[in-house]
Amino acid sequence: MPDALLGMELPELHGALARVAGQDQPKYRARQLYSALYRQKIGDVREAAVLPADLRAGLGDLALGLPEIDHVYNSIDGTRRYLLKLADGRTVETVLMPETGRDTVCISSQVGCPVDCRFCMTALMGLERSLTAGEIIGQVLLVARDNHLSIESGNFNIVMMGMGEPLLNLTNVLKATRILCDPEGVGLSEKRITLSTSGIIPKIAELGQAEVRPKLAISLNASTEEQRREIMPITRKYHLRDLLDACRAYPLRNWEKLTFEYVLLGGVNDSDADARRVARMLGQLKAKVNLIALNPGPGIPFVTPAPERVASFQEIVKRALPCFVRKPRGLDIYAACGQLKRNEPLVALG
Ligand code: SAH
Ligand code: SF4
Repeated sequence: MPDALLGMELPELHGALARVAGQDQPKYRARQLYSALYRQKIGDVREAAVLPADLRAGLGDLALGLPEIDHVYNSIDGTRRYLLKLADGRTVETVLMPETGRDTVCISSQVGCPVDCRFCMTALMGLERSLTAGEIIGQVLLVARDNHLSIESGNFNIVMMGMGEPLLNLTNVLKATRILCDPEGVGLSEKRITLSTSGIIPKIAELGQAEVRPKLAISLNASTEEQRREIMPITRKYHLRDLLDACRAYPLRNWEKLTFEYVLLGGVNDSDADARRVARMLGQLKAKVNLIALNPGPGIPFVTPAPERVASFQEIVKRALPCFVRKPRGLDIYAACGQLKRNEPLVALG
């Protein structure tokens, strides 16, 4: 793949400028380019009006690295699912969920996913490759441009909950986060970015050491070791007990809480006894729980629990810690959690 400008931090931009225009480039040129890429959010190097014309022409040979829109699916609830084409022709999905007063963009960190959770459609793809930092940022910039959203408005959130396991691409995820949160870059607050993981324990500790990092969400999804092993086989490698230890050891910032996500699978992990175990397991943590009733899909051998079951589960967990039910978004266009699987023909869900 040719070097793309998006995803580069200052020293790399300086190097790229030196390569196209010679070593004698003044230092501030890299800063101007950085600002054009991430503040001004240019769609083409030619739009970087602060740079001299000959420099822009020289840079024209370098790809900006913004993904291309292959297709947009619009849901009746306002959710928009973007199928984006990357430089190597592979495609990835990004979802915009507009709400009154705020917009949330759900971005992908990998093409496919190597973790084989039994309830997730992305798992069926396997892993094709990890995304670069530029491809991670590019999803945000593209969706913001396409919908005229102002990222600095204070009403813009990013969740790294699309395709892929972000902690298996931590270097690029952290680089993207630094640029997204840099006041000279995209300018978003760390409080507005959340990363969700299936529980890659050593990487949780590494994330905790990063100076600039998203908030952490853990996909818990089970109330016992055995149950989690069945539905998330990665538990054989990273045990639930050790995952909870890693959560207890995680260095939360004073404004931060852990989020635990729990996908409710009818008759599997949704009983009152499960809810009581979850309450006991998490009650001592500075945390909240988000319940998600299974979003169904072809090839997923589970059923969605009845709303009364979800309500009863929530009621029990709520006695120990805050617990919310996440409404599915974009179900009709396969944009909801666990449904991202590229080009899936749009058959109506029953
Ligand atoms: N790989 C990361 C982030 C992407 S998945 C992770 O697993 O955390 C984002 C969330 O969607 C996870 O909490 C996951 O448990 C949930 N999810 C996966 N498949 C789902 C489905 N079919 N219905 C509802 N939620 C699902
Ligand atoms: Fe991967 Fe997350 Fe889906 Fe599991 S739930 S297969 S970790 S994307």
